[in-house]
Amino acid sequence: ELDPLPPLTPKFSVILDQVCVQCYQDFAPNTVEDQAREYIRQNLENFIRLEFPGTKLNLFGSSKNGFGFKQSDLDICMTMDGLETAEGLDCIRIIEDLAKVLKKQSGLRNVLPITTAKVPIVKFFHVRSGLEVDISLYNTLALHNTRLLSSYSAIDPRVKFLCYTMKVFTKMCDIGDASRGSLSSYAYTLMVLYFLQQRNPPVIPVLQEIYKEPKKPEILVDGWNVYFFDKIEELPDVWPDFGKNTESVGQLWLGLLRFYTEEFDFKEHVICIRRKNLLTTFKKQWTSKYIVIEDPFDLNHNLGAGLSRKMTNFIMKAFINGRRVFGTPVKIFPKEYPSKMEYF
Ligand code: ATP
Ligand code: MG
Repeated sequence: ELDPLPPLTPKFSVILDQVCVQCYQDFAPNTVEDQAREYIRQNLENFIRLEFPGTKLNLFGSSKNGFGFKQSDLDICMTMDGLETAEGLDCIRIIEDLAKVLKKQSGLRNVLPITTAKVPIVKFFHVRSGLEVDISLYNTLALHNTRLLSSYSAIDPRVKFLCYTMKVFTKMCDIGDASRGSLSSYAYTLMVLYFLQQRNPPVIPVLQEIYKEPKKPEILVDGWNVYFFDKIEELPDVWPDFGKNTESVGQLWLGLLRFYTEEFDFKEHVICIRRKNLLTTFKKQWTSKYIVIEDPFDLNHNLGAGLSRKMTNFIMKAFINGRRVFGTPVKIFPKEYPSKMEYF
């Protein structure tokens, strides 16, 4: 059912490179915008501490993982001094109280506690920056997966370019909004990282499988091992494949679209960035879903679990169309991002 693609010419390859780099340049926040995020965090923390002394706010998600957009929401995790976990806390009550406090702050609009979700949050709009903010409680694993993604983004500039391109692509195809039944940005980023690990030669290692000690260190958070090798500057010494992959970012982008449409066996295998060996859907007992993405730390969590059959087909179609659009040579660099129509 897939159309054959012509070979990638050097000229078209250069155009694809430009498209990928452009996605990063157009959407990544600059230093001032990054500082603004930190500034908002600090102000919110100061304000909340007036009512709840000992409260600590931490940024996570794309404000910190290296794959943020100018307009990305501000993900904040709230913890209390001297309290390691949320065990014994009435999280719903705290979220409701927090919402009451935040409603008094004139710079915020639409303060809304959402206590029915798996992770209870307070959502609101920060007027001056125009950013949406989500505050969750003791979302500790998310702090660690943010650090993991940030480490991967620091290994090679191609990681950043590809993850931005993937995000732009999924937003344009309307397949990148988990609150509307598709996959989250986080899930698509895991798909990019998995592809880069499985590429031959690989572009990035499996950081959770690298260690200098005789045994893999164990750092338990919420019962899961969050260890990974984070001394990125030492990778040339500990990772034998370092620097071996020399493909251009455009080649890799088309390679990714081809990988997920032509090669990867979704029925058989799990998208899993914590180990190099293939993991089967059978072994995880996750055979009832077509797109299966294992969280790198919470191994019981399949990020594709919420996808309907219809949405799964819609996502696969977007990838098939993307393969055709990015695999068919054009002579000039497109000035505008293609509209949604061109994909369907
Ligand atoms: P965006 O730029 O789209 O906001 P993001 O990475 O911040 O990208 P969010 O959906 O805002 O994505 O999620 C924030 C963070 O919450 C993620 O980076 C990840 O750490 C965590 N997260 C999001 N979705 C999931 C999920 N389904 N399972 C586990 N953790 C998740
Ligand atoms: Mg976010």
